[in-house]
Amino acid sequence: MPAMKNRELDLSEFPAGTVTEFTTLVCLACIFDIFTKQLGLAPRTAFSEIKRHTPEIEELTTRSAKRPYFDSDEKHPHCPYCKSAKRWLARFDTYCIEGGKTTDAPRRALLKKMPQSGDQFLVIEKKSDSRAVFFEWLDTLRLNLDLHDERWLLEATRNYLERRDAKTNWEEVFSEIRAVRRSTRLAEGWERDGTRLFLAPKIYGEALLIQYLVSRSQAHGGLTLEGRLTLMDLIRRLRYSGYLDQLGITEHEPGEVFEKLIDHLASTTDWSRVSAASNTASGVSTASDSDRISGVSTGSGSDRVKGSKQTTKKTAARKEPSKTKSKKTQPEPDEIIAESVKLHYIIDRRDFLDKVKSVYASYAA
Ligand SMILES: [Zn+2]
Repeated sequence: MPAMKNRELDLSEFPAGTVTEFTTLVCLACIFDIFTKQLGLAPRTAFSEIKRHTPEIEELTTRSAKRPYFDSDEKHPHCPYCKSAKRWLARFDTYCIEGGKTTDAPRRALLKKMPQSGDQFLVIEKKSDSRAVFFEWLDTLRLNLDLHDERWLLEATRNYLERRDAKTNWEEVFSEIRAVRRSTRLAEGWERDGTRLFLAPKIYGEALLIQYLVSRSQAHGGLTLEGRLTLMDLIRRLRYSGYLDQLGITEHEPGEVFEKLIDHLASTTDWSRVSAASNTASGVSTASDSDRISGVSTGSGSDRVKGSKQTTKKTAARKEPSKTKSKKTQPEPDEIIAESVKLHYIIDRRDFLDKVKSVYASYAA
């Protein structure tokens, strides 16, 4: 096995938010114990059996692992079951790549670069749908945000914008943004005016929804740029702003409205191609009622959200907001359904293979 100096996979070519990383530890002492003591296998046989082993995707990506797997953030973790120290513990790194137009090319390039011999990597494809992918994304986002620091509202907004418009360098845009407001001037896209980011009402409404979804488990209702809102408050605002009409949501029962909103948020539509963004504001936006909300200040350059760093160059802002094109991005009522999405899992088995070898050596000695 060729020793690789740099064990990290280079994920910089993937748009932000399209790759989720999972790390799971497995205790080899526990595994060897099961094979040698409980099943009565000779160490040599146990070794060749264990070497072939790869946990199920569910075991690798769950937030609550079961024996002999476990999760730990500690620098010197111990097996929670048998207390074994680090040298008995092996690590599986799992990368889940959301299939789609923006990730196909970088994924193929990555697969080509990976060492092919000795099952060091395993690639597994799984069918999923936009809803499941969206909730997984939301979960990861929540884990990476510090909800006690009000800057999370801007971070959550940035993450959502990155998800919907991968072509814009949002990290750069947000480096100077201290407040996010609803624009009364824009019908589509966004614009920056000094330290303020103005979003078209539709996008602003979606940012509020994301904020609501991220924080709703914390307390009653959810926290948004417009303060704490219950689901009813939020739906009322979205209806009033014309957002529900735009999506063709005619239902009145809050639960039904909510389900449709989720499907819309989860849809894989990438509006970067139709975004009418001009990133330097020329006109002065008139004060909207959302202007009374004081902006949240951001620490400069702070980026606590773990994920693939976006390296896409900022493309020239497009001037024409093509009306016909932008209509396409608004699904008709009947089109709001969960779309099927392919997930590509890459399992890095290198640490596991190394550790199994060294643990076996100490068993056989
Ligand atoms: Zn153990």
